[in-house]
Amino acid sequence: MTENPHDAAEPKRAERSKKAERWKKAEQPPAGPRPAPRWAQRGPSSARAYAPASAPTVCPVCRGPVEGELTCQFCGQVMVLPTGIHLSTVGLRFGGFLLENLLMICTLYIGWLIWAFLVFPQGQTPAKQLLHMRVIYIPEARAARWWRMFFREFIAKGIIGLLAAVTLLIPYFWLLWDRNRQELWDKMATTLVVTDRADRLRPSPQPPAELPGGRS
Ligand SMILES: [Zn+2]
Repeated sequence: MTENPHDAAEPKRAERSKKAERWKKAEQPPAGPRPAPRWAQRGPSSARAYAPASAPTVCPVCRGPVEGELTCQFCGQVMVLPTGIHLSTVGLRFGGFLLENLLMICTLYIGWLIWAFLVFPQGQTPAKQLLHMRVIYIPEARAARWWRMFFREFIAKGIIGLLAAVTLLIPYFWLLWDRNRQELWDKMATTLVVTDRADRLRPSPQPPAELPGGRS
């Protein structure tokens, strides 16, 4: 005798309806405030949100007003860090950028990479170590550690670099969506580009402007 296919499907169906029941239960909001999803538990990404709640109204270093700020806008003191720890100056940041690239070239990148992996746990890169700078993880007011440094130096910088490259390349593709296939430089110069196989638009040689002893 052949087996009834419905019988075989029966336990499966029962299980499915049990699953559906469970899903329905899960969909019902639990009593009380719903806990934030794990990815949202990290807190705001805005630096200003980490200004201390019971903040001093004046900077302990320079006495400038700092209400609601994470860092003093006058001397760069970071409110959640010990007195005397201030933001690196723009000049130092730029110097660090140049030095970092110089170190990469001088060590054929591989040396820089090994050095970087060794100093990442201290919140530093090779240039930052030489210039006594450190990357701080704001929510915990401490030095960034290996993974955050790795994310900052390779993933985040990679994404920004890619975005910049794509954005800067857009003008070169302008003719693709332009009615007159003009590039932006065509617009600036009031030009467009045609194919002229038979040279029909070649300017004819100019007649000599004025022959010596010519007509009046
Ligand atoms: Zn200050």
